Amino acid sequence: LREKIRELELSFTQKYPPVKFLSEKDRKRILITGGAGFVGSHLTDKLMMDGHEVTVVDNFFTGRKRNVEHWIGHENFELINHDVVEPLYIEVDQIYHLASPASPPNYMYNPIKTLKTNTIGTLNMLGLAKRVGARLLLASTSEVYGVSLSWTNAIHCMKERKKLLSLENGSSINSAVGPFIAFKLHPEVHPQNEEYWGHVNPIGPRACYDEGKRVAETMCYAYMKQEGVEVRVARIFNTFGSRMHMNDGRVVSNFILQALQGEPLTVYGSGSQTRAFQYVSDLVNGLVSLMNSNVSSPVNLGNPEEHTILEFAQLIKSLVVSRSHIQFLPEAQDDPQRRRPDIRKAKMLLGWEPVVPLEEGLNKTIQYFSRELEHQANNQYI
Ligand code: NAD
Ligand code: UDP
Ligand code: UDP
Repeated sequence: LREKIRELELSFTQKYPPVKFLSEKDRKRILITGGAGFVGSHLTDKLMMDGHEVTVVDNFFTGRKRNVEHWIGHENFELINHDVVEPLYIEVDQIYHLASPASPPNYMYNPIKTLKTNTIGTLNMLGLAKRVGARLLLASTSEVYGVSLSWTNAIHCMKERKKLLSLENGSSINSAVGPFIAFKLHPEVHPQNEEYWGHVNPIGPRACYDEGKRVAETMCYAYMKQEGVEVRVARIFNTFGSRMHMNDGRVVSNFILQALQGEPLTVYGSGSQTRAFQYVSDLVNGLVSLMNSNVSSPVNLGNPEEHTILEFAQLIKSLVVSRSHIQFLPEAQDDPQRRRPDIRKAKMLLGWEPVVPLEEGLNKTIQYFSRELEHQANNQYI
């Protein structure tokens, strides 16, 4: 009863969202790196509302103060402008390590910085975890699986190999049949499970992110084995929701903005390629369950419900009640034809699975984007 009265007192006297009262023994000091970003700010909301003490560390590269401003001044909340590439000395019980640009234009903008953030930044957070005995959860990504060997890729690789063989040692085209048979015997891993080691180009334009996250995972397990640091690794698949970046060129934000502004919805290729998107609140619940579980090996967090891109376009158009038409543009280069997580491990070991229906998540995101467009329009004239 005393706890309920305290919660009520707080909600009457303060301008903040309602916060549960936790006794000192249950209340944790939690650090969220990248906490002013899209996912991090929703995680901040959940952990604050659950009654914990939250410290957000962010350098505001892609995040913004506005995402967490509703907590500023709260006695359980602290916001530190800090770059994780520099050492950090604070006292905490848990670390959610999310700091890293996540969308391709953002992480390709300064690949060296992306590498430093994912390597030196992760090393610093593991050093901190080791010193204070905190548990660290790494926000890894489905990109560690890289480009799966789809049939188009396999055929492309075979053609390249044929060229090489005939150019380099004058061998006949038939000697290139070997790799083709190998591809036939080892088709694409789809959906991807945690046992798959991935297929990543170490020198391609995405390598700063993909390989950065792969080495971040390696560091976690080195600190676990050598130093006894408790680690958790979430491999996150495509996620959407409010506070995602408006202009990062990804399909959900593109289609919603285009539909809201009456512009054509740009479908690359035939639109038959598929993706599976999870709503951000599902991801946040998954991250918290994983952190508080005893599962130290990597776990996929994503929504396995697969849709074609054309279905996405039609659904968003109808939810926005937009008169935009659908425009078919040339297919994007190396565009994976299918991506879908295998989440059996999360289901079995965490009892977690996504619960927010796609339409409900899209409606919330559409509301957010239309408020943002209004906000932008109003600010233009100030
Ligand atoms: P985001 O860009 O919105 O958030 C990243 C946050 O990290 C930003 O607030 C940014 O300012 C901060 N940051 C970047 N470099 C930093 C540094 N050197 N020091 C301190 N702060 C720094 O991206 P997001 O979508 O919220 O992604 C969060 C995490 O989840 C990332 O690690 C990302 O790799 C991972 N992830 C996201 C998705 C997705 O679909 N959104 C998918 C897979 C993995
Ligand atoms: N570190 C940090 N905060 C701490 C402890 C360590 O940022 O509270 C950094 C430290 O600067 C170092 C990194 O984490 O660069 C790895 O720390 P560790 O103790 O493993 O390595 P060492 O300091 O022995 O090189
Ligand atoms: N896509 C599209 N129109 C757009 C943006 C993306 O048809 O305006 C397609 C893209 O070719 C890909 C899918 O949507 O097949 C998902 O693209 P996104 O960049 O969102 O994510 P990723 O490819 O990394 O899964």
